Amino acid sequence: MSLFHKFAPLRAAYDRLESAKSNPFNVAFDRVLSPTEARIGDREILLLGTNNYLGLTYDPAVIARAVEATEMFGTGTTGSRIANGSYDGHKRLERALADFYGRKHAMVFSTGYQANVGVLSALAGKNDHLLLDADCHASIYDGSRLGHAQVTRFRHNDPDDLANRLRRLGDTPGDKIVVVEGIYSMLGDAAPLREFAAVKREWGAYLVVDEAHSLGVLGQTGRGLAEAEAVEADVDFIVGTFSKSLGGVGGFCVGDMEGFDILRVVSRPYMFTASLPPSVIAAALEALHQLRTRPILRERLMDNARQFYYGLADLGFNLGPEPNPVVSAIMPDPETAFAFWSRLLDAGLYTNVSLPPATPKGLALLRSSVGAAHTPDQIDHALSLFAEVGRAMGLIAPARAEVRA
Ligand code: PMP
Repeated sequence: MSLFHKFAPLRAAYDRLESAKSNPFNVAFDRVLSPTEARIGDREILLLGTNNYLGLTYDPAVIARAVEATEMFGTGTTGSRIANGSYDGHKRLERALADFYGRKHAMVFSTGYQANVGVLSALAGKNDHLLLDADCHASIYDGSRLGHAQVTRFRHNDPDDLANRLRRLGDTPGDKIVVVEGIYSMLGDAAPLREFAAVKREWGAYLVVDEAHSLGVLGQTGRGLAEAEAVEADVDFIVGTFSKSLGGVGGFCVGDMEGFDILRVVSRPYMFTASLPPSVIAAALEALHQLRTRPILRERLMDNARQFYYGLADLGFNLGPEPNPVVSAIMPDPETAFAFWSRLLDAGLYTNVSLPPATPKGLALLRSSVGAAHTPDQIDHALSLFAEVGRAMGLIAPARAEVRA
């Protein structure tokens, strides 16, 4: 008997995908040619399912800094930030992040996942209360488990539900920490952050915002939703990642609270893992500089987001509520999502299938994401493939010409 017997139903579903040759979990790119193009075998693929929002993965300056850092400091630090793994670059990146956000403190983690797990597990102790939006990312839920706090889930994007739950907690002892995201990764919807900030103030709670998908996307200077909604003063901690708009890997947390630095010696996902390689740090530092100095990237990104979102809406696809760079078409069921995904890939377009438990309300999603590096022609091409496949599968109405014929 295998220890994996508990996964038998999942295994069977996976095997069915394999035999239908529509297993999205198996895709590997043989070459990546640019932020928007890759090759699988000898087929060129248009990438519409990355989180490369600003298209910085091939930026010449970012690459140059990464190469220089490797040559100067080697390929890896081989140690934790609290041992031999803190280099000048890690410190400089932390200062640059604090400066960008106008905050006193910043801390760099090895991934965004670890930033959430590390921050939440440390901030919320045994007798504290974490109030998490129902659609928060797995890393936020995992962080809440690691810290043994009392966890309350409130309805997605529902400040009234949050207020009710805080009311019910009344004066139970312990701190109350509310966690929401900027843009949600599955449906691309943004949090009503002003309302959440008002609730947080009214109930004397703390507020943590994960800006993973909104850094470099929203706000006058790209700081994210809190900046766009002018509520930064109400946000106690901002968490984010380098793996999306900054085109690398790594995570961070910034804040103003006195004593912040104690996190460095109580946050296990910070302490008990190797720090980021010098090349990754140097690339993130340069990418942050590009984000700050090239607002045009954000403009192009949002133009592309609107072109794609409204293009799909006009075709009759059922979408998330707003035109952000994450654009998800809601599919009737997982089988249809896999079949749609597979037909698009056969036609040379890469998107993502997203399924429960990663998705809200048990939805099967065909999740796409656009970046600043896409050209309007690429977006049009993607729209025409969606139209073709959507019609062939009977998911959207036929084109007018077809109806007349
Ligand atoms: N937070 C959110 C909201 C995310 O969507 C993700 C990644 N999908 C993360 C955190 C984790 O980021 P990373 O890839 O840097 O681990």
